[in-house]
Amino acid sequence: MMLLTKDNLRTLINDLIKKGRPVIGPMGEGKDSCYKPIGSFDEINLVVPFPTKSSKEFFLADSEHILSYTFEEGNKVSVKEPPEPKEMVLFGLRPCEAASYPIMDKVFGWDYKDEFYLKRREKNIIITVACESADEFCFCTSVNISPKTTEGSDIQLTKTTAGNYNVNVITPKGRSLASEYEKLLTTGNEDIVDFNGPKQKQFDISRIKPWLAQNFEHPMWHKIALPCIGCGVCTYLCPTCHCFDITDEGNLKGGSRCKNWDACQFAMFTVHASGHNPRDTQSKRFRQRVQHKFNYYPDKFERTLCVGCGRCIRHCPADMSLLNTLITIDKLANNEIPSTKHQTPNNLQAPNPKT
Ligand code: SF4
Ligand code: SF4
Repeated sequence: MMLLTKDNLRTLINDLIKKGRPVIGPMGEGKDSCYKPIGSFDEINLVVPFPTKSSKEFFLADSEHILSYTFEEGNKVSVKEPPEPKEMVLFGLRPCEAASYPIMDKVFGWDYKDEFYLKRREKNIIITVACESADEFCFCTSVNISPKTTEGSDIQLTKTTAGNYNVNVITPKGRSLASEYEKLLTTGNEDIVDFNGPKQKQFDISRIKPWLAQNFEHPMWHKIALPCIGCGVCTYLCPTCHCFDITDEGNLKGGSRCKNWDACQFAMFTVHASGHNPRDTQSKRFRQRVQHKFNYYPDKFERTLCVGCGRCIRHCPADMSLLNTLITIDKLANNEIPSTKHQTPNNLQAPNPKT
């Protein structure tokens, strides 16, 4: 194990920036917190519980031109490819957030290889900081992740009681960065800060998938989704939601093909050219989100499409709680809530901790 003092961490980050390698870090406070390119170490806010937006936009841009073209004289068309992505260092991510990238890798590297995502994955380095605390919306342990999981991290730092960081180098990319800065690292480790937050699992994940597979038409879906206004905030903030749409925009001089985030919670998401919409109510759209994350994706890739970061609960304007939905499903699966095909129990949704 190696150790990095707080002063040496500042030196490392500032040196990367000085050498022209963009460093992305958590900035701001409360709802305004986000990941952004930083100008110096002192701009980072490592005590922010959770940046509102996840860091996925640095791998899957919210909107990007994937090619552009111009019409030239003589009926010629000139096509311009997008620039190659720059190597970035993403610093200060929570472990659950980094764990979302191996999950998305499976989607973007499966049958069709999405080079826009994969090139950034290849180039970017992720340095996580193990969690010191969790709030009432976090449920990583319930989806078999821990506050110090190393999945998706190239290097993980753990804060010590002396204010320094134990360094765990995980991947070859992490090793290469650590050897570049070996003068800043010392051998040894220190006592770590105690984790402060709920560690217990809040539902039994093994009961969720079988129940979802058998209860597509359960009356719960209608009742539980009633408050949802279909704003899509949950999907845009989620580190594992990855749907996008491709549009062509052009005029007589040229145009571009654009890749934009999309969301299964939008009413237009599944509208056919005929006008028919197979998911024509919000409850069907909410059901799709839960089924995709905890039934369809695990069918294909044998794990959940959720890391339990709690963002979709913290920021839902309608106080919908995915955690409470999963607790409810667990209780239904375990016969702790009576359920019949034609009756919807009145006490289906436990209150959201925010309310
Ligand atoms: S669950 Fe909440 S955040 Fe998601 S679409 Fe519905 S209202 Fe918006
Ligand atoms: S579904 Fe919610 S809790 Fe799960 S990863 Fe997405 S935002 Fe986080």
